[in-house]
Amino acid sequence: MFEAVTDGLQAYSKSETLNSINNCEAFDKEGNELLDEFNLSLENGNMLPLFECSLCTWRKPLKLRLFIGHARHSYLSNLKSTRTSSISCSTNSEKEPSNITDIQLANAKVIYSVASATGHNQESHPESNLRVPAIVDTLEKLELTPKYRNSEIIEIQHFNPASVEDISSVHERAYVLGLEKVMEKASEQGILFIEGSGPTYATASTFQDSLLAAGAGLAVVDAVVAASKKSPEPPSGFALIRPPGHHAVPTGPMGFCVFGNIAVAARYAQRVHGLKRVFIIDFDVHHGNGTHDAFYEDPDIYFLSTHQDGSYPGTGKIHEVGSGKGEGTSLNLPLPGGSGDVAMRTVFDEVIVPCAQRFKPDIILVSAGYDGHVLDHLASLQLTTGTYYMLSASIIQLAKELCGGRCVFFLEGGYNLQSLSYSVADTFRAFLGEPSRASEFDNPAFLYEEPSTRIKQAIQKVKAIHSL
Ligand SMILES: [Zn+2]
Repeated sequence: MFEAVTDGLQAYSKSETLNSINNCEAFDKEGNELLDEFNLSLENGNMLPLFECSLCTWRKPLKLRLFIGHARHSYLSNLKSTRTSSISCSTNSEKEPSNITDIQLANAKVIYSVASATGHNQESHPESNLRVPAIVDTLEKLELTPKYRNSEIIEIQHFNPASVEDISSVHERAYVLGLEKVMEKASEQGILFIEGSGPTYATASTFQDSLLAAGAGLAVVDAVVAASKKSPEPPSGFALIRPPGHHAVPTGPMGFCVFGNIAVAARYAQRVHGLKRVFIIDFDVHHGNGTHDAFYEDPDIYFLSTHQDGSYPGTGKIHEVGSGKGEGTSLNLPLPGGSGDVAMRTVFDEVIVPCAQRFKPDIILVSAGYDGHVLDHLASLQLTTGTYYMLSASIIQLAKELCGGRCVFFLEGGYNLQSLSYSVADTFRAFLGEPSRASEFDNPAFLYEEPSTRIKQAIQKVKAIHSL
């Protein structure tokens, strides 16, 4: 790992700053010692983080790989788990939130956790710290919280951050620890933008906030799995968390995402709960490239993504089906812009259901992005609040049929606070088995005709490729 990082540094320096690097006396031909001589600073006014050498005038904008090297150098021996000791165990190895009783778990229909990451924020950025509070406020207003529903809806109030070990089951340890190191600088210098990661930012609390988000997801997995041992109809889970995760790749952050929350949870479900076969559905409008990359060669984790064709980050082509032992366990369905409710109903019936039935999962995890909503301006699908209700109700029904009802949703995108909040609220209603109230929010006047011929072609093509 460290060699790769060193290689990255050398390649970078040769192409752009060969002379100044070579003039620096601290530079060692292996690149190792050099790393400790670099500091991070902010250029006056432009908020771009820079590396600068303390022994010469060399300065360059942040390249995350440099940070990885730096942190790896300093922090490798400090690895420790913070999670495993702090949630009380019930039976065997399964862990259950200590503040929720068995009876409560068995009777609940919805169990959720909230990690708002209030310190992880950039003004005017769509992935802002207003998102989760907006959802929670709407749930409250629509009487979909424990305060109004007694035992039907449970919020997990106490959970622990994910440990470095948990995160490192998906991400390279050097990245995880490198991010931790960045925090020291961020606390002194404010917000950082991570070059090469899409518009992903980091603030002083990003590392802890991201561990907490992932931990909030694991706590819901623990609760749903524990409940499934006691009831044939366990509650459906929802981790209302940010920063989102599905773009974060094994080597770093990407596209507003820091750690792959759902990927970490998939590995955790396998390792801690012995749930070998994990089926991941990603209905965010963007391709979940991070999750895709993490499991592309893994036959036990099926990754099924629907996304808008041509949207960020441009990955997830229909012919990408997995490789090696994982060949056939990745399904990518790019849908044409303008696809809406009719398209998603067809996709669910003709693609998602037969895939899941054939795979026979032990648990279903869902990357629940609400940015395909017609009112969300980051893309141009025409999903509605009602579409999200349909998807949620159908997915939990599938989980009941295939894997003892074990199903956990993870918040991904969704940037129009209203459509995001109402759509999550309708997902809760689907979990509760109550009628949708989408018609109170959705306005058919916003919709236009779906490109049905192109949708049909895409669905037929993916069915042919995967023999569905
Ligand atoms: Zn998205």
